[in-house]
Amino acid sequence: MPSPEVIIIGAGLSGLACALELTKNGVNVHLLEQSDAPGGRVRTDFFEGFLLDRGFQVYLDAYPNAGQLLDLDALNLHPFQPGAIIFEHGKRHRLMDVFRCPRHLVSSALSPMGSLLDKLLVAKLRFSLKFASIEKIQTRKDVTTNLYLQKFGFSKSMIDRFFRSFYGGIFLENELSTSSRMFEFTFKMFTEGSATLPAKGMEEIPRQLAARLPAGTLRCNSPVSKIDGADVVLASGKKLSADQIVLAIPSDAAQQICPAFILPDLKWRSVTNCYFAARNSPFGESIIALSADPNSLINNLSVPSDLSSDYAPDGQSLISVSILGIHDETDLLARVLAELHTWFGEEVDTWRHLRTDLIARALPEQAPNTKQPANAVKGVFLCGDQHATSSIEGAITSGLETAKRILEERKPSES
Ligand SMILES: Cc1cc2nc3c(=O)[nH]c(=O)nc-3n(C[C@H](O)[C@H](O)[C@H](O)COP(=O)(O)OP(=O)(O)OC[C@H]3O[C@@H](n4cnc5c(N)ncnc54)[C@H](O)[C@@H]3O)c2cc1C
Repeated sequence: MPSPEVIIIGAGLSGLACALELTKNGVNVHLLEQSDAPGGRVRTDFFEGFLLDRGFQVYLDAYPNAGQLLDLDALNLHPFQPGAIIFEHGKRHRLMDVFRCPRHLVSSALSPMGSLLDKLLVAKLRFSLKFASIEKIQTRKDVTTNLYLQKFGFSKSMIDRFFRSFYGGIFLENELSTSSRMFEFTFKMFTEGSATLPAKGMEEIPRQLAARLPAGTLRCNSPVSKIDGADVVLASGKKLSADQIVLAIPSDAAQQICPAFILPDLKWRSVTNCYFAARNSPFGESIIALSADPNSLINNLSVPSDLSSDYAPDGQSLISVSILGIHDETDLLARVLAELHTWFGEEVDTWRHLRTDLIARALPEQAPNTKQPANAVKGVFLCGDQHATSSIEGAITSGLETAKRILEERKPSES
């Protein structure tokens, strides 16, 4: 077999997108992945007949680059309703995107979640971002999301009761200390499309990309231990060499295998996810529920099987509960169930706990004005969500852009 022209380390979405773009342009690529399957942070397990995504995540169907690369029809995306049910002091409120659900205009305007001015400001923000490209957003003044929302004029009540919980679930932190550019990007994506789940679980996304690679490109169970000049050394001791190497792995892992890079410390946002099986869905509609109580343990709850019946066996529902951070498991379940009791009452006693996932390395922290490291090592490229936005779109964009830079470098010089 000919030796590869490019070696990509890491078959998460960024590595897969990079490999697809390079192979489409006739480059011979080896894509080395340490685990048993591609997908990185986007994986789904088949467990007792349920599809358990490794952490609750959604695909936003307005993502431009991901939407072009993926065959969205084949993913059979099922949308959440645009809006949320918000639990506060045991009461339920509903806050919907009235631009897409006009029948909720009156109830949303009267909802105690935010003043009428707050709701008008949501419309103003939506309008202002409609005409800003994602590239333009990335060059805007960058502050924390909290400061941005205050400066935009939102009330403290709206920030604390809605934005902290909704964006807490996206940024995996509820201080709203994440970059306002990331906030603008996700707000734009949420208002221009739907949050969706593929019918057969989130892992369908990387699976679809991997299936399009030429045979022999993807090599799973191939952990890389170091880069030595132009050589990639596998944990097995085997050496491979290539003209160019892509590190499509988080930058702390990149630093370990290629110490020639001097990369800033990468801090991670974490999340804990509990799955339950229930006879009936507590909602019977495709909606996300949030908590507005400041002392709440639970950030969000959803019922993936209300979107796609493939998520649960016949006659059962799958309930996903997300808690920000990593928690001591000893009394976690009891505390989560106690809180769910205040939401749904005795119905919760019939739910069966399926699994708890502690995801320590979920999202790279995205503080305002984070500087991107320069590509300091010749022939070695850094790629991944932390070099764009921490999202599926960011990972795919970074993969495609890295491929473009490599193709440019591989062009024969004109002289
Ligand atoms: C719980 C959770 C919720 C999320 N929610 C959303 C959401 O709702 N919407 C959204 O758009 N995004 C969400 N994301 C973010 C999104 O999943 C990531 O941004 C994206 O998957 C990152 O892809 P990546 O290729 O950059 O990195 P990764 O997925 O981390 O891929 C890196 C790959 O490199 C491999 N690797 C590492 N070291 C080595 C080595 N030495 N040798 C070989 N292989 C190696 C790893 O095994 C992995 O497969 C969420 C993520 C998590 C975890």
